Amino acid sequence: TPAVRMEHLTKTYHSDDDEDKTALADIDLTVETGDIFGIIGLSGAGKSTLVRCINGLEDYDSGSVKVRGREVKDLSPAELRDLRRRTGMIFQHFNLMPSRTVADNVGLPLRGSGRDRASRRARVSELLELVGLTELADHYPAELSGGQQQRVAIARALANEPDILLSDEATSALDPTTTRSILQLLRDLHDQLGITVVMITHEMSVIRQICNRVAVIDQGVIVEQGRVFNVFADP
Ligand code: ADP
Ligand code: ADP
Repeated sequence: TPAVRMEHLTKTYHSDDDEDKTALADIDLTVETGDIFGIIGLSGAGKSTLVRCINGLEDYDSGSVKVRGREVKDLSPAELRDLRRRTGMIFQHFNLMPSRTVADNVGLPLRGSGRDRASRRARVSELLELVGLTELADHYPAELSGGQQQRVAIARALANEPDILLSDEATSALDPTTTRSILQLLRDLHDQLGITVVMITHEMSVIRQICNRVAVIDQGVIVEQGRVFNVFADP
């Protein structure tokens, strides 16, 4: 089974004072297990809406979204929680809690996971090592660079051992050098952990650096989809 399979997915935002807005129109998209799949398009194209359909943060009007073979809108509340646990997410602005240390931020998703304190601590240490932040465990987010903060967010996203990682413009707030190191980290994690990565970006260079497959989205419609070297072949 593919990691994600969308068929004829359509999503319209309704509003009282404004016109209805069709954010996604008849989307067909397949992310195979093990892909680093890029979704590229301009601002407002529908990228965030599309990714939010994958972890059930957004409902949809018609069509199908299957994650690991299961239709998202048919999941029970408990199954939806499980889906979100197994689907990590990172964002442009990191979304860390400023009043918590690096270690506490990383350990937050482990609360209510059934692990005891010692096991949570051990897992947090493992995650900090994975992203190269062991030394910064007791620092606060504001004391870190943007790249370090994104590493914290990546460690937090991986806490419950997801097999899919969703990235919403994760490098858009970072300079080119830091962007390269975060993309390298994502590629290493993909290779080491076998995690499927779905990443939204508006930057072609991001797609070229790490994605194997890509979908180009424009005004809610997928206009091209395939292997990066086919879709973006140099003329
Ligand atoms: P992108 O991530 O590519 O910038 P989005 O998925 O955020 O695009 O938005 C797609 C379209 O849907 C845009 O026209 C946007 O204005 C609209 N939209 C997004 N979220 C909402 C919402 N909650 N209510 C109404 N319209 C929305
Ligand atoms: P909680 O706040 O969840 O009741 P703690 O205050 O003991 O538990 O720690 C918060 C989380 O961060 C836990 O998952 C804990 O294991 C972890 N943690 C805190 N400090 C460190 C550290 N320096 N190294 C590794 N893990 C840590």
